[in-house]
Amino acid sequence: MSEKSPKLRAELDGIPTYKPGKPAAAGGPVAYKLSSNENPYPPLSGVLETAVAAAGNFNRYPDMACTGLVNELAERFGVPVEHIATGTGSVGVAQSLIQSTAGPGDEVMYAWRSFEAYPIITQISGATSVRVPLTDGDVHDLDAMAAAITDRTRLIFVCNPNNPTGTAVRRAELERFLDQVPSDVLVVLDEAYREFVRDADVPDGIELYRNRPNVAVLRTFSKAYGLAGLRVGFAVAHEPVAAALRKTAVPFGVSQLAQDAAVASLRAEDELMGRVGALVSERTRVHEALVAQGWTVPDTQANFVWMRLGERTGAFAEACEKAGVVVRPFAGEGLRVTIGETEANDLFLHAAAAFF
Ligand code: PMP
Repeated sequence: MSEKSPKLRAELDGIPTYKPGKPAAAGGPVAYKLSSNENPYPPLSGVLETAVAAAGNFNRYPDMACTGLVNELAERFGVPVEHIATGTGSVGVAQSLIQSTAGPGDEVMYAWRSFEAYPIITQISGATSVRVPLTDGDVHDLDAMAAAITDRTRLIFVCNPNNPTGTAVRRAELERFLDQVPSDVLVVLDEAYREFVRDADVPDGIELYRNRPNVAVLRTFSKAYGLAGLRVGFAVAHEPVAAALRKTAVPFGVSQLAQDAAVASLRAEDELMGRVGALVSERTRVHEALVAQGWTVPDTQANFVWMRLGERTGAFAEACEKAGVVVRPFAGEGLRVTIGETEANDLFLHAAAAFF
């Protein structure tokens, strides 16, 4: 028998793998995980009960069309049910968006640095990444992005607020950018952190999508709604984009637990948004404290802060770990720190003061 392994696509070799945030050390001293922009609050008891009830049927496949969830979202946002496509986390939907629009020879554009899945899912589809550097202030350079559009551009991600910098683009500049994008290029507004936005000039993508057929909005239940472990996200998009997403989605990719918990979360929105409000207050406190310590921290509209530390990044990440908080270093660039429990934020602030 041949010793050969099956032949895989050669291009797969060069594709980096997605790196999850480092977990807090098991059995260590106090350790808080501030490395994945998760919601620190445990599930609401009502949401947990709903999920547990759904678990009793896991010998059955879930509703493939996510009917209950799609209906609830359509009503919530005032959009047709046909304009909603669900998926295995919003990263799953993003992957389907690229698969539906771009292949070898096509270009997918995004700012850099931004969400680290963009280059990976672009490369998986065989398309080419076009990365447009953020400005010195770590904000999207939308003029440079407009100038970088070619006749091979198929899809443009605008992560708003941007992961990992927390910075957000404003309505006027985003609308001016959208006006310059050819109508056959899809613009994906990735709004994973939308619920944490407090700047009234940062537009709601779902308002922008309404009269722009080439705009799709990505949202998730992983952050503000606290369902990261259940993997459910969705897009709001016009036909034929939404239809293509349904076609390319992994069949049964959203479990019944996830669907039912997502519906229960939408119904418990007041309580969940109260928690988001508390996290936003903590964000303000952390941001102000860092600035008072002398750090330069860009304004953040998400549930994390960004510190550009260059070569000191690794050393600061280590100091944080020693202090009991695991953060997310981007080697040679900077550090992203999720806003977590008050105690975790305090530990981080102490570490920051000592390291300055
Ligand atoms: N978009 C952005 C900007 C993110 O930061 C993340 C999660 N880190 C996602 C999408 C994906 O989240 P999920 O797949 O859990 O919905």
